[in-house]
Amino acid sequence: MAKVVEIPVVWMQGAACTGCVVSLLNSLSPGIARLVLRELVPGKHVSLRFLVTAMAGQGRQVMDVVRDETVKDKGNYILVMEGSVPVGHPAYGTVGEEGGREIPIAEIAGNLARHAAAVVCMGTCSSFGGIPAASPNPTGCVSMGELLAREKITTPVVNIPGCPPHPDWLIGSLLAVAVYGLGPVAGLLDDLKRPKIFYGKLVHETCPRRADFDAARFAKKFGDPGCLYLLGCRGPASYADCPTRMFNSGTNWCIGAGGPCHGCVEPEFPDRFSPLYEKIDDRRMDRFRLLQKPATAPKA
Ligand code: SF4
Ligand code: SF4
Repeated sequence: MAKVVEIPVVWMQGAACTGCVVSLLNSLSPGIARLVLRELVPGKHVSLRFLVTAMAGQGRQVMDVVRDETVKDKGNYILVMEGSVPVGHPAYGTVGEEGGREIPIAEIAGNLARHAAAVVCMGTCSSFGGIPAASPNPTGCVSMGELLAREKITTPVVNIPGCPPHPDWLIGSLLAVAVYGLGPVAGLLDDLKRPKIFYGKLVHETCPRRADFDAARFAKKFGDPGCLYLLGCRGPASYADCPTRMFNSGTNWCIGAGGPCHGCVEPEFPDRFSPLYEKIDDRRMDRFRLLQKPATAPKA
C-alpha cells in the first residue's frame, strides 16, 4: 500500500469569537470527519494535532504536543491561526502554563510560526486585526502578519479573511498546498496574501443586484427591492466570491438575505467601513478600487 504523507496542522486561537472554526466545523462537503479522518487527496492526510474547540485532550498532555511540534515537525507543519494577537500586556491572552507560568498567546503563536512551514491566518482578526483590534483596541491586538514582522519571522503567510470565512476558502487552500506545494500557491495570492481563486473578484462584480446598481435602482429601506448601496453595502470595495459560492453549503449569503455586504474580508473592516449601515464614504476609501458609478449617481 502506498505510504500516506501526513500534513501536521496546529490550530491556535487568539483573540477571537470562535466563529471561524465553527464555520469550518459546519462544512458539509467535505465534512470535518472526512477532513481529519480520511485522506485530503490521495496519499495526503491532514493530521490535526491541536484544536481547542474540537479536541478531547486537556492540560499538560496537549500543551506537550504543542511544544514538541516545533521540534518533531520543525519546518513541516502548518500553523492555522484564528484570532488576532493581544500584545498590550501578557495577561490579555494566555494559552496553558509552563513551570507555573501562564504562556502569553503572542509567545506561543510567535514560537509556532517561527518553526512552521507556513502560517494560515483563518479569519479577518488573524489576517488584519479585525474586531479585537478595532478602535480603541485596549488589548493592543495585532494581526499575525504584524506579529511576524515585529518578531522578524519570515515564515510564508496565507490570509483567509472573512468574519467568518467560508470553509471552502480554507479547505481549498489546504488542498492546493497538499497538491501543488507551498511555492506555487504563494504565487497565486493577491497583494494582501489572499488566494486569488477565492478573493479575485469584487462582490459588486457578480452581485445579482448589480443590474439595479447600474440602473440606479436603490433600496431606501431594508426589504425594498434594489441595490443596497445607499443602505451601506461595501460590496464595491470587497473582494470575495460570496455571491456565487454562498454560505451554509450554497444556501444563501449576506445580500441574498437582504443585508448589505459589510466588507468583512477587507483590512478596512470594521473601523474604516463603519458606520456599517450608512452609505460608504468614498473619500475615506484609499483602497476603493473598482467602484463604477451608476448611470444616475445616488444621493446620500
Ligand atoms: S452595491 Fe452591494 S447590493 Fe449593490 S450591486 Fe454592489 S454589491 Fe450588490
Ligand atoms: S458578502 Fe461581504 S460581509 Fe458577507 S461574507 Fe461576503 S465579504 Fe463578508
